[in-house]
Amino acid sequence: MKGSVRPAVFLDRDGVINRKMVEGHYVTQWSGFEFLTGVTEAIRLMNGSGYLVIVVTNQQCVGKGIVTMEAIEGIHLRMVRSLEENGARIDGIYVCPHLASDGCSCRKPATGLFEMAARDFRRRGISIDMVRSHMIGDSDSDILAGENAGLTTFRVTSNYDPRMCPGGKGLLNAARSITANDQRKRMAM
Ligand SMILES: [Mg+2]
Ligand SMILES: [Zn+2]
Repeated sequence: MKGSVRPAVFLDRDGVINRKMVEGHYVTQWSGFEFLTGVTEAIRLMNGSGYLVIVVTNQQCVGKGIVTMEAIEGIHLRMVRSLEENGARIDGIYVCPHLASDGCSCRKPATGLFEMAARDFRRRGISIDMVRSHMIGDSDSDILAGENAGLTTFRVTSNYDPRMCPGGKGLLNAARSITANDQRKRMAM
């Protein structure tokens, strides 16, 4: 069976998909997980445009012993289910549980999470087309990680709320910009 080649949109989690807590605080249970406006629609749009949607997230709270990896996985299971109920699909989630001081190769801005994703998908017969892939995040480390991995990057306003941040950009703005750009490229061919 011949494998397929797919572009991906890599997404940061906190501040992009769900409301990020104030510095030094973390989402440690589902009750603390609040979806931001437009996220479901944005993911549906990327699903429908042929992108793999892959979450790449630093969770230093695990390394700090504030929350277990099992609890993080539990939160992610509920996140995925809740999106699925609304017709939005997440294709993969990759977590760096390490401390910044661990010097691991997966904590963004390092590129280990992207490499893990590429390896996993290759095993399933899907080759991620990194040249046509994107990274969407709300922090310097996301943008730097995307650049380090050779991706096109899109920075969104952290915890974007259309009522509170006029002129800001959230995940839906990013998804629309990415898919509209694809359309322009197709029309130019
Ligand atoms: Mg973030
Ligand atoms: Zn790591």
